[in-house]
Amino acid sequence: MTEKSALQFPISEAPDMGQPLAVADGVYWLRMPLPFSLNHINLWLLEDEAGWTIVDTGINTQTCKKLWQQVFDTHLKGKPVHQLIVTHLHPDHVGLAGWICETWGLTLQMSRTDYMACRVLMSDTGKPAPQAAIDFYKAAGVNDEQLESYKKKFGGYGKGIYAMPNSFMRLEDGGQVTMAGHTWEIIVGKGHAPEHLCLYCPVLNVFIAGDQLLPTISSNISVWPTEPYSDPLKEWLDSCAMLQQRIPGDVLVLPSHGQVFFGAHQRLQRLIDGHEKSLVKLLEACLVPQRNVDLFSHLFRRPITDDVLTLAVGETQAHINYLVAKNKLKISSNNGAIWYQTV
Ligand SMILES: [Zn+2]
Repeated sequence: MTEKSALQFPISEAPDMGQPLAVADGVYWLRMPLPFSLNHINLWLLEDEAGWTIVDTGINTQTCKKLWQQVFDTHLKGKPVHQLIVTHLHPDHVGLAGWICETWGLTLQMSRTDYMACRVLMSDTGKPAPQAAIDFYKAAGVNDEQLESYKKKFGGYGKGIYAMPNSFMRLEDGGQVTMAGHTWEIIVGKGHAPEHLCLYCPVLNVFIAGDQLLPTISSNISVWPTEPYSDPLKEWLDSCAMLQQRIPGDVLVLPSHGQVFFGAHQRLQRLIDGHEKSLVKLLEACLVPQRNVDLFSHLFRRPITDDVLTLAVGETQAHINYLVAKNKLKISSNNGAIWYQTV
């Protein structure tokens, strides 16, 4: 059975960019453009008697600001935006948080870890790439030309984000927020982002998933040079299993990319199974010692071009670190490169 046939997509057409579309009582789907190969993000507008809640903001571009201004001018029925919640720290989600907070006089609501990590990462913009990061990519087997391109692009994260608010309100796992006149439970997932907020409304049976559960693409799970020994794949797999327990199988999932869908449990299982398969392939490949970059063809179907190189190294390292932590891979180093061999 293909992925699509295991899931159901109740709304066949995505809304036009900047045109809110009702998907549940008081819940609207708003799509904004992204200047990447992943060309859109889904944001959510929730209406109650007093005003509107925005969940996620889009990236900091003039185009997105213009679309937001149109929404503010024509879709709010004379009511203010009174809450802004951001699911996680990636620029397509948090990019305009500062601008929306300024526009409406709001306090940004976000997880503590992602707010702090966002501030730290933004402070890298304008600085040269640190030696620790260069060593990390050299150890992975990245060549000199690719390293030069990495150095040039270093600090790009902050360029997609409007100046962040200097204070925020912390949302955390097990907490609650009120949106669209109902209580929503906060569920934190890990692995894609440090502390990713998801929002589940039992009354509406709707789950705002962010990037924690996507219908057709699998979220990037990466080890980054700032924390080279992290094990995000374990966190991700644990989160998938946790979500299967905490949200019902018939919930309507509102993901940040792709179409809204039913089939949450099947999709979570598919994601778990996909990573398990990759781990098996990787152990087979490492019967002969391999570097990180030697493993791309075993994990990714498409060729790895420079624009996705750090994501590919990060995701490969996530699978490697998971197996190293389980004592299934052993490590040796040679001339700055690290080699992995199946135990
Ligand atoms: Zn993300």
